[in-house]
Amino acid sequence: MPNLEAEEAFILRSSPTGESHRLIRFLTRKHGIVNLWAGGALKSRKRFAGLEPFTLLEIEWRLRPELSVLTGARIKRHYPRIWGSLALLERAGWLLRLVDRMWPEGSGDPKSFEELKDAFERLERSAEESKGAEEGESVLASAFRLLEQSGWLPRYDACVSCGRVPRPQQPVRIDPEKGGIVCRVCGSGPLPLSPLGRRALHAFITQGTPPPLSAQDIEELKAIAEAFVQTHAR
Ligand SMILES: [Zn+2]
Repeated sequence: MPNLEAEEAFILRSSPTGESHRLIRFLTRKHGIVNLWAGGALKSRKRFAGLEPFTLLEIEWRLRPELSVLTGARIKRHYPRIWGSLALLERAGWLLRLVDRMWPEGSGDPKSFEELKDAFERLERSAEESKGAEEGESVLASAFRLLEQSGWLPRYDACVSCGRVPRPQQPVRIDPEKGGIVCRVCGSGPLPLSPLGRRALHAFITQGTPPPLSAQDIEELKAIAEAFVQTHAR
């Protein structure tokens, strides 16, 4: 059929329009971010049986010049353990909100889709093994790898202005506007990054083993990821 597309997708955002319609923003494997209009989405359980967030979907849509139309959705992979845990839903939701703002419509690539899918798989597994703190680090690792793919990875090895390399145990500060660490001489930055946080960042990007992080390290890294998306999202 002409102008019909089908592929794997995650729902990033869904807002009601009219009585039973929805406007839904997806991250798809091949087409990146796609906004689709789902007419009668709240009524037609047959066509849109799988239209659930936090679920790997297979969707079909028809290309239209203005707003493309969702024509079907089914569940490809359900994540029962994520769904059963408020803490895991919160983490998955945090990542989805970041991804939602990372790319404009029509951009994003299969690598980003795989990263998000892997993050869901790891969250699902971590729930099985109930490893607590590691879940937070795993989601952060995905967030920073996605930032790298979108071109907004904070520079964490040296000052963005003068190139000075911080000592291993030296806390540093990050300026999202300038793109990474800014040393004290160059004016510093608004966001703190602990030495452990910096090592973890390096491990996330190189797929190494991150050091054990405190709750505060995790909060600092989350704030940095959010600030970079906030600053650079267009
Ligand atoms: Zn400097």
